[in-house]
Amino acid sequence: PRTLTLPQTGLMHSLRVTADRYPYKTALWHYGRSLNYRELREQAERLAGHLAAQGVGKGDRIALWMQNSPAWVVGAFAAWHLGAVVVPLAPMLQAREFAFFLQDAGIRVGIVGAELYEKAKQAGLGHVVSANIMLGTDREAARIPLPEGLDVNPTLQPGDVTLEEALQHAPAPAADVSSDDLCVMPYTSGTTGLPKGCMHTHSSVQANVFGAGVWVEGNVEDRSLAALPFFHVTGFVNSLLSMITAGGTVYIMSRWDRDVARQLIRDHAITLWTNTPTMIVDLMASPSFDPADLRSIRNITGGGASLPEAIGQRLLDLTGIKYVEGYGLTETMAQSHTNPKDRQKLQCMGIPLFNVDARILDLDSGAELPPGQVGEVVIHGPQVMQGYWNRPDDTAQAFTTIDGKAFFRTGDLGYMDEEGYFFFTDRLKRMVNISGMKVWPAEVENKLHDHPAVQEACVIALPDERSGERARALIVLRAGHQVTAEELQDWAREQMASYKVPRDYQFVDSLPRSPTGKVAWRQLQEQARAALNPST
Ligand code: ATP
Repeated sequence: PRTLTLPQTGLMHSLRVTADRYPYKTALWHYGRSLNYRELREQAERLAGHLAAQGVGKGDRIALWMQNSPAWVVGAFAAWHLGAVVVPLAPMLQAREFAFFLQDAGIRVGIVGAELYEKAKQAGLGHVVSANIMLGTDREAARIPLPEGLDVNPTLQPGDVTLEEALQHAPAPAADVSSDDLCVMPYTSGTTGLPKGCMHTHSSVQANVFGAGVWVEGNVEDRSLAALPFFHVTGFVNSLLSMITAGGTVYIMSRWDRDVARQLIRDHAITLWTNTPTMIVDLMASPSFDPADLRSIRNITGGGASLPEAIGQRLLDLTGIKYVEGYGLTETMAQSHTNPKDRQKLQCMGIPLFNVDARILDLDSGAELPPGQVGEVVIHGPQVMQGYWNRPDDTAQAFTTIDGKAFFRTGDLGYMDEEGYFFFTDRLKRMVNISGMKVWPAEVENKLHDHPAVQEACVIALPDERSGERARALIVLRAGHQVTAEELQDWAREQMASYKVPRDYQFVDSLPRSPTGKVAWRQLQEQARAALNPST
C-alpha cells in the first residue's frame, strides 16, 4: 500500500524556501545595514561550516548570547542547518548566571555579542564566536545610530574567532533534520527559582509560526518591527520567524528606544509590530508622539501581560489601530491564544490558536469547569514543549492528563466566556511581570539570602502604572547586622541581571508563615496591595 509521507523539514528549510523565492529581497534591516535572503542563507551555511569544524552536530546545544542583531539570526539558522539546538540567553545576565546555563544545558560552543565576550570566557564557555553587532551591507546612510556600547572589538583568546572570520568558512552541507528534532531551548524559572530549559522541536515552533500567522496574515510585503528581544519566545516567533517564513523584512532593534521606534515606523513604513503593553505606553507618553507616525501599521499584536483597557482605548482613539492581545508562555512557544483581529475583546487573552485545546480546571478537584468559572488554564497543542531539559520530575508535575491527552498546567488563573474567549484573572504561581519581563521571586530571594546581613527575604509583586508590575523585597536582617536599601541594591546588581533587582525594599522584624512553615507571600502581597490602594 502507498503511504503518504509528509516532508520532514526544519526551520532552516523555511529560510531556504524563502531565499529561493526572494533571493534579493531584504530579510534583515539593522540601523542602516541590511542582508537580503540570499546573503542570510549563505552566511548561516558558512557559519554552520565553522561550527561543524568545531565539532558541533545534531542535538548539540549552542548558546546565543547577544542583543537582537543580524548575527543572532545568522547564528540561529546556522545551528538549525546542523540540527543543533539554540539556547537563547538574555544579554543582561551576569557571568555567574550565564555559567549556570552552560553547565545545565551542557554547552561548549557559543555565539556571543562582542560586548559580552569577557563575561562569556569568565563563565567558562569553551569556543566563542564573538559577534560584533555590525553585520550586513551598508545600503543607506545610517541615520539611526547604534545603541551605545555594542560596536566593540575585544581581544580574543587563542582558539576563539570573530564572526567575520567564521563567515569565511566553506558552507556546511545540510544535516538530515526532522520536524521532531529539538531546535530551541529557552529557559524559564519557577517556584524553585532554578531556571529550566523548555525543549521545543522544529514542529512546535512552526505550529506557532503558522498558528499565529493565520491571525496576523503576514505576507511578503510586510515590514515587521522587531523591538522585543529574540531570546524571548514572542520576539523570536512573532517578530522574526513569521517574517522569514513569509518573505517579509525584519527591522531589528538592538535595544528599546521609543524615539528610534517612532522614526523607524515612520521612515520605513512598518506594517506589523509585536510588542508589550509597556512599549505602547512608553511610545504614547513621548512628547514628540504623533499618531500620524503610525499610519502605515496594519497590525499591532502583543502579550506577555494584560493590556490595560484605557491604553488600548487610547491607542484606538488616536490612531484607529486595535491592539490585538494574545497570551502564551515559554512552554507554549509564544502564543497559545490570541484575539482574532476584527473580533477582539478588550483585556482578553483571546481564543485558542488552531489545534490548541485549552480548558479551565477546578483547583481542588481538577474537574473541568463550565464557562464563567475561574480555575487553572491548561493547554494541549502542537506548540507545547516536550518537557524540561533533564528534569523529569518537574516535567511530570507540569502536565496533567485529560481524555488521554497531556495538558500543560500554566499556573495562571482565568475563565472562558460563552463564546470561547479566555480571560486572565490572576496567577497561581509566584512571578513578577515587569513590562513582560518575568522575574521569579524564588530566584531573587535565593540570591538575596547570600548577603551576609540578610536573614530572610520575600519578594512580592505590586501594581505599577508604567511597567504593569514591580517587585518589592521584604527583608529581615540578621541580629547585629545593618545594611541600607541602597547598599543591598548595589550588591544585588553584581549578583543578577539588573531587571531582576528589586527597586523597593522594606525592612521588617519577621515574615508570617503558613502552618506548614512556608513564608505566607500571598498574604504579604495582598496586604501591601491593599495599603497602596486603601479604597479597594
Ligand atoms: P515572552 O517572554 O516572549 O513575552 P511570554 O510572556 O508569552 O513570552 P513567559 O515569559 O514564559 O512567556 O511568561 C508567561 C506568563 O506571562 C504567563 O504564564 C502569564 O502569567 C503572563 N502572560 C502572558 N500573556 C498574558 C496576557 N495576555 N495577560 C496576562 N498575563 C499574560
